[in-house]
Amino acid sequence: MKVLLIGGGGREHALAWKIAQSPELGELVALPGNPGIAAMPRCRCVAGAAEDAKLVVELARTMGADLAVVGPEAPLVAGIAEKLAGAGVACFGPGAAAARLEGSKSFAKEIMASCGVPTAAFAVFDEAVRAHAYVEQRGAPIVVKADGLAAGKGAMVCGSVPEAHDAVQRMLEKRELGAAGRRIVIEECLAGEEASFLAIVDEEQVIPLASSQDHKRVGDGDTGPNTGGMGAYSAVPVLGRELETWAISHIVTPVVRELARRGLCYRGVVYAGLMIGAGMPRVLEFNVRFGLGSVAPLTWREEAAACVVAAAAGYPGAYAKGTPICGLEHVPAGELLQVFQAGTAQREGRLVTAGGRVLGVTALGGSLRGALDRAYGALRLVRFAGMQYRRDIGHRALAREEECR
Ligand code: AMP
Repeated sequence: MKVLLIGGGGREHALAWKIAQSPELGELVALPGNPGIAAMPRCRCVAGAAEDAKLVVELARTMGADLAVVGPEAPLVAGIAEKLAGAGVACFGPGAAAARLEGSKSFAKEIMASCGVPTAAFAVFDEAVRAHAYVEQRGAPIVVKADGLAAGKGAMVCGSVPEAHDAVQRMLEKRELGAAGRRIVIEECLAGEEASFLAIVDEEQVIPLASSQDHKRVGDGDTGPNTGGMGAYSAVPVLGRELETWAISHIVTPVVRELARRGLCYRGVVYAGLMIGAGMPRVLEFNVRFGLGSVAPLTWREEAAACVVAAAAGYPGAYAKGTPICGLEHVPAGELLQVFQAGTAQREGRLVTAGGRVLGVTALGGSLRGALDRAYGALRLVRFAGMQYRRDIGHRALAREEECR
């Protein structure tokens, strides 16, 4: 089988790593991919933009792709799945209409409201005057979100009323987020512990994936600005079997049915970002990634997993690119340890940084502590100038383990 993989970050490196383990794979071509993918057997990278639909379809045709796997959300929201289908290439990713679940926060909120899925109370605004009035009426803390895709910068959790007015002004008046912020959602600020719940769905079944928890803030102890994610671990104690079953019947199934009622068939992975407060999950957001036909039974490893992100100095603000990365060759990569490359490039024969989040050091272990020790041990072997990473990935689960002892 020939697979076209769209995207070039850490997620795509991880996808390529898994796809390349299939004995059915003939060749994997990544657009644009990254040096980590290029170094794997049966894989090659082609330069170009993942958002360039014409190029994607052309490449799928010329390479004779049997399957296209779409990593990032932007091409999905722009309708790449339909364009590939038009060219006779099966696509692992939902169509544009269903992808609006991520592409438009107000659409996602409306769907949830229609089918009674628990989420923060909200209102939608296109006009600044009304939005400011709503902020005054509701008070703080309050959350202001751009309706469209804003590369992770679209949600502002505002601790005070002036901060919320400022967020409204930046999005609706100054248009700092461009078209993504032309419409905004203002919502209740929820308290609790965040967790990610992913499920593979089609018309008939909902199959949960292993739960995970992300660490969004740049600094230890969850301080500093939000990022694309500084690390993650799985499985998550706060999202046990019982809540998982509840989330299937009260979140994923109603949403998929509501979409179907509107003529939108959702096949693929639904990612629900949850806030769990007092044992009750509420949906913060949906992500749409992947779409597929029939699903073979899934098997999960028993071990705990942890990923620690090594980021460039300054991230998530301005950061340098082109810094040489050393020591990767010393990492004993194998079944229990992998370094996924997220923001790297090859320059004059050297691996250099090319993004804010540079590496995702990912490990398995008999316990979360074991997985973390393995990941942090590997990180000590890798260096680039200004490298920063959080030292406390998994702290909530570790604290729970301590409590139970
Ligand atoms: P989103 O892009 O909607 O996932 O928001 C990004 C991050 O902002 C989330 O991971 C949360 O940490 C935070 N956030 C979003 N919505 C809320 C909310 N209603 N209450 C509290 N925190 C939120």
